[in-house]
Amino acid sequence: MTSNTPPLLQLTDCVVVRDGRAILSVDSLTLNAGEHIAVLGPNGAGKSTLIRLLTRDVRPLAHEDGSAAVTLLGRERWSLSDARREMGVVSDALQEDYDVAVTARDTVTSGFFGSIGLYAHQVVTPDMAAKADQLLALLGIAHLAGRTMDTLSTGEARRAIIARALVHDPAVLVLDEPTDGLDPAAQHHVLAAISDVARAGHAVVLVTHHVSDIVPEVTRIVMVKDGRVLHDGAKADLLADGPVSELFGFTAHLEQREGWYRLW
Ligand code: ADP
Ligand code: MG
Repeated sequence: MTSNTPPLLQLTDCVVVRDGRAILSVDSLTLNAGEHIAVLGPNGAGKSTLIRLLTRDVRPLAHEDGSAAVTLLGRERWSLSDARREMGVVSDALQEDYDVAVTARDTVTSGFFGSIGLYAHQVVTPDMAAKADQLLALLGIAHLAGRTMDTLSTGEARRAIIARALVHDPAVLVLDEPTDGLDPAAQHHVLAAISDVARAGHAVVLVTHHVSDIVPEVTRIVMVKDGRVLHDGAKADLLADGPVSELFGFTAHLEQREGWYRLW
């Protein structure tokens, strides 16, 4: 990366206050294009709030010197279509909205319109349909294209939602707790799909409280605890017993096998 390329996303002096309490304070956090990152921390640490700052669903408190900023490719103002092109976001809320009688293929193409399901006025072009099929294949669910979302397992539906988030070839795919509520087989399939997405060239930001969710392609870890960034650094340094024990507040022993981690 050359020094004159602005970072993909940057947070400066961001404080989020709820009920009179600072639930997140970030002095400086930079995500560069093409980086695969895991945001790791216990429940309630502020991880989802951090993602909502990046997606502009929450705003930081104004800083007295005017320094509070969230920038996308160096710009403080951006349109919804810029954001969609640069960022694909997968959250629980989206999946809940999608427990409907819409096929997996239409779920993916609906990403082009930012809608839940397809409507009569929305014209799916052959290019859009081809892109949807390519993404269903990338996520390993091509055979489920014609099935409706309400008949899919949670893991299958989640993969369709991930495919939907990729229709615009965003610079970064943001996943908040991607294995929540999944059984071991579904976890395996969803994580394998995320690993494939990362290898296909989409930068991945994976937000989780499970070290076992961290796909091997991740190289940088942002540890979040008590509304602050505790550590931000290379996976090789931070996925170790010391930092992980400090993060989760108990004496943890980390095991690694073929790039995947597990906590004891
Ligand atoms: P995480 O995703 O790491 O589990 P969150 O970012 O969802 O954590 O929440 C961080 C903290 O902020 C939690 O203690 C949560 O209860 C609190 N919080 C989040 N949103 C609100 C809100 N709208 N009002 C009050 N408290 C909130
Ligand atoms: Mg959360």
